[in-house]
Amino acid sequence: QTIFRVLYRDLLQTKIFGLRKKISDKQEKMDLSTFSAKIKALCAFLIISVLCLVASASLMFFFTPPSDFFAYMSDPLNHRILLGFWLGFGLFFILDITFIQENFCIYMCPYCRIQSVLYDNDTLMALYNYKRGGAVYDAKGIKYSLAPKKQDINNECTNCSACVRVCPTHIDIRKGMQLECINCLECVDACASVMGKLGKPSLVVWKSSASLDNNGKVQFVRFRTIGYVVVLALVFVLLLFMGTTKESMLLDISRTAELYEARANHIVENHYIMIFNNTDSKDHEMYFEIYNTKGGNIAQSLQILQPKAPFKVKAGDKVKKIVTLRTRESLQAGHYDIIIHAFAVDEKERVFAERKTNFVYPPSDKIRD
Ligand code: SF4
Ligand code: SF4
Repeated sequence: QTIFRVLYRDLLQTKIFGLRKKISDKQEKMDLSTFSAKIKALCAFLIISVLCLVASASLMFFFTPPSDFFAYMSDPLNHRILLGFWLGFGLFFILDITFIQENFCIYMCPYCRIQSVLYDNDTLMALYNYKRGGAVYDAKGIKYSLAPKKQDINNECTNCSACVRVCPTHIDIRKGMQLECINCLECVDACASVMGKLGKPSLVVWKSSASLDNNGKVQFVRFRTIGYVVVLALVFVLLLFMGTTKESMLLDISRTAELYEARANHIVENHYIMIFNNTDSKDHEMYFEIYNTKGGNIAQSLQILQPKAPFKVKAGDKVKKIVTLRTRESLQAGHYDIIIHAFAVDEKERVFAERKTNFVYPPSDKIRD
């Protein structure tokens, strides 16, 4: 969110197309009164839209590898769900970056809500040094009528408002910690530049409120941080454990649109699309068997019509097969649960995967004698 907003507002709209005068003033409205300004605004919008679609595609890569993604998108009408997710997320990103803007951070972002729960007095954040700068707001958050220097000449804040103008969420850091703050630290840089001209350090600092109040150091090692480290360590160990127990093959089963096909002599066929994914480091010949689910007894009544023989799946590759199962005899009408046990012919015990599916046997009026 923050990076894309900086790209759009600061780089494209302000720096490249000059629709705003200064990056340091995020409150400034764009002047779109001329035709050329409108064209420039459109160009900025088109460029960020392309970048948003790229970001959306990279999100899709978590679920569909890039090689598959581009292959599928070259035939989009046959991959409408992926296309819908890609364009849907892309359009949301575009809407978010160009229209919702920082309102997303202020009103919608769950991250800052979670963050505020994790905060304590020792948490590092952007803070205004009220001791040097002087108080600008009272304890109820109401602004004093007098600027800090007018309250006391020794207060260092010049009341220049550089830190307020630069804030993308339009807050005044001098009011204290606020939920809207995204810790972008723009205000720290803005004040560093103002105070730097006076030979003084920034009044907005990256500190904890406790260290600011006590003029002490930030306390990094404390009950909360130790607790977070322990929880993260446990999650890391769990991830390592899950990573080492990865399946060496995956099996995906879907039914074809046609549920069953009735043949002569009460014979029925069911068709499936199965994807055999070899996640092992070696090539394997793969095949499968039909097992009964608990309490079932249909497996012995079925035979595999196609594929007739094991087939090769290269390491890291997947193979799609149209599978046909056929009854050996007449059955009661119904949906029968079955288990497809796929395996590597050369390493049956190590490389295998099981998935549940079903076999449909139609009522007698749909059966052919
Ligand atoms: S760090 Fe400063 S500029 Fe950034 S959001 Fe917070 S108050 Fe605004
Ligand atoms: S930029 Fe620094 S000096 Fe200027 S108003 Fe903000 S805190 Fe005060």
